[in-house]
Amino acid sequence: MNGQKVIRRLLSTTSRFNALQTPRATDSTDVLIVGAGPAGLAAAIRIKQLKSDLRVVVLEKGGEVGSHILSGCVLEPTALYDLLGKDLSTYSSKYGCGEPPLGVKAGRSEMVWLTGDTSSMIPGQRAIRIPHPPQMNNKGNFIISLSAFTRWLGRVAEEHYGVEVYPGFAGAGVVYSDESTEDSPWVEWGGKWGKQVTGVNIPPDNQHPQVPRVLGVLTNDVGISKSYTPNSTYTPGLFFQSKLTLLAEGAHGSLSKSIIAKFSLRKESEPQTYGFGIKEVWSVNEGHIPGKIIHTLGFPLDKNTYGGGWIYHMDNNLISLGLVVGVDWENPYKSPYKDFQMMKHHPFIRSLLSPSTSNRLAYGARTLTEGGLQSLPLLHFPGGALIGDSAGTVNVAKIKGVHTAMGTGILAANAATEALSSNSNSLSTYTSSFLTSPIHSELYSIRNLRPSFHFPSFTKHHLGVLGGILYSGIDSLFLKGRTPWTFRHTQNEEERKQSVDSAPSLDSLRTKPTSVTNPIQYPPFEPPLSTDLLTSLSLTDTFHEEDQPEHLRLLTLPEAKIGVNLSEIRLEDEGEEESPSTSTSTTPDSQSQPSRSQHRQNHVRINLSHYAGLLERACPAGVYEYVEDTSSPSPPSKNETENHPQENEDENKSSWKNKKLVINAQNCIHCKLCDIKVPSQDITWSVPEGGGGPKYTIT
Ligand SMILES: Cc1cc2nc3c(=O)[nH]c(=O)nc-3n(C[C@H](O)[C@H](O)[C@H](O)COP(=O)(O)OP(=O)(O)OC[C@H]3O[C@@H](n4cnc5c(N)ncnc54)[C@H](O)[C@@H]3O)c2cc1C
Ligand code: SF4
Repeated sequence: MNGQKVIRRLLSTTSRFNALQTPRATDSTDVLIVGAGPAGLAAAIRIKQLKSDLRVVVLEKGGEVGSHILSGCVLEPTALYDLLGKDLSTYSSKYGCGEPPLGVKAGRSEMVWLTGDTSSMIPGQRAIRIPHPPQMNNKGNFIISLSAFTRWLGRVAEEHYGVEVYPGFAGAGVVYSDESTEDSPWVEWGGKWGKQVTGVNIPPDNQHPQVPRVLGVLTNDVGISKSYTPNSTYTPGLFFQSKLTLLAEGAHGSLSKSIIAKFSLRKESEPQTYGFGIKEVWSVNEGHIPGKIIHTLGFPLDKNTYGGGWIYHMDNNLISLGLVVGVDWENPYKSPYKDFQMMKHHPFIRSLLSPSTSNRLAYGARTLTEGGLQSLPLLHFPGGALIGDSAGTVNVAKIKGVHTAMGTGILAANAATEALSSNSNSLSTYTSSFLTSPIHSELYSIRNLRPSFHFPSFTKHHLGVLGGILYSGIDSLFLKGRTPWTFRHTQNEEERKQSVDSAPSLDSLRTKPTSVTNPIQYPPFEPPLSTDLLTSLSLTDTFHEEDQPEHLRLLTLPEAKIGVNLSEIRLEDEGEEESPSTSTSTTPDSQSQPSRSQHRQNHVRINLSHYAGLLERACPAGVYEYVEDTSSPSPPSKNETENHPQENEDENKSSWKNKKLVINAQNCIHCKLCDIKVPSQDITWSVPEGGGGPKYTIT
């Protein structure tokens, strides 16, 4: 399938009418940044600090800056100091955006092991104090809401520095030059990246064919109906043409994923691995100790599942409570949502959340990158670079990625201003500066901790969490990463090659079928301490325009690469060629998709027959349901028949053993877990209409 067909399906306008041929406006900028998280905003601010006359545009898919941001969050302020100065007391007067919402200073940190029976999910009575690893020292740090902090940082970027921040505008597709005239990003890096950074020592590939350049990004179209016809509000997205594009989409970004694959940026890396965090914010009237930090291990996670919980005492009597589960969990019957609810049943946590003195205010979930240094793709590509979690710079031992995200944003910004002043579109100096930065040293020192949880490598008798804790303890206290070895996340080169371009993801490969696993019997919820999923979801205030194409696309693997060449889109100054409503699905594209129904049917078959419908339990928003298909094939409406003959035929054939998949896309909170974990690897998360999604404010 060529790029044009793919983008038709992945841009929100997609294949049912020829959206790419709808004339769209172009806007040109010096630097385009996709994502107004810590990485994107730090980059934007630093560019303006260095050269205020450069035009810097930041696109943000959330309706407001911060509304799609969820994190712990203990902030290590090093990069913030670098960006805005060390004297916090001057921020308000200097930047004119009020006091920075830095919550409270981190106080005492402790770590406990929660006892309990994880086969029946019955909590034990004890919370055993265990030594705190040195990375968890939080002296000088702050406990914040990252959503609130980025909202403030966005204002500083916009109001003080003149960055153009556009919330509600999602980057939906990458535009590449038609000609492959650029040097491959691997020139001068082939063999070096693996040797110096990721530890993946493979023979250097000295073939460096010329490649295209990233010219910018298309924002998502608005006003396309569920049946792929333009409605009265239809507005084609803009083409943001940029000299340089920085991708700051956070973990598993949809554009980042496609660019990594397009330029084989993970050619000398391990595949990315992920954690999945579920969080609630509670208001408590008793037992609140501002600044207190507790990390938990043990219950509710079994000995083969990586992860742990946190309890951060924020300001204003708020408590941030959460659980991170390694997405490589094996048992398809696992429900991270229920795990988290059960965690609150443990007396250690239950005692904090008494119904008479506490109240749950917020809920949400998000994946985070855990692969560390080994999984970092080459950071630059022709015309841009990956920053923050788009690349994967979380320090998983500390569960901190804000300072590294901001740090890489700053490094990329330095390189971008330099490149622009010499009319270059290469950011390879950003990659070089990363290698000598404290971020690299920090990630290098902890590189073996996460993979040690599979130590000794993936044998049947690996020590699981206990082995990992033991190794991590020794490494953190004595070795400090100064070992000649670098553990891999993969078992062998074959597995690395198989999942290095993110599909099938390594985490999906780790999932075991139901034939070798046992169902987990979760005890009932105990509202208001623990509740069903939809009650929790209502706290996210999630909204998506219902009449739009599903942004969770069922696709086959090769299709999951987003990208279009410049000549494949029509720009306004090229004139009107055809009106959108006349260019319908009778295009060769839609005619040539006889397998759409088969995809859906295969999805249901694989996921139900081998994984008991994993997504029904994994998704933290109840988006996926496998339901009885009671419908007899109903005759399609006249309009549908005319516009989408193939589609209607498909819908009627997509069930398997009388079960069909229902995707409640309007509930999606953009955590990206389904795209990573689905065993059939056929779900691609793409951006919905701009502004849709959760409305986080204190997460
Ligand atoms: C549960 C959890 C707990 C964590 N705890 C901590 C902690 O205590 N301390 C810490 O330092 N770190 C923590 N982290 C990690 C930290 O949150 C991340 O490393 C950090 O937020 C990464 O910043 P970023 O800017 O790269 O990405 P993000 O913060 O994810 O921001 C990305 C932004 O880009 C937007 N975006 C994405 N795609 C598009 C698109 N196509 N178009 C337009 N906009 C787009 C998103 O809406 C979002 O606003 C935690 C993470 C999680 C998930
Ligand atoms: S549909 Fe996917 S991205 Fe959306 S909330 Fe569910 S798992 Fe997360």
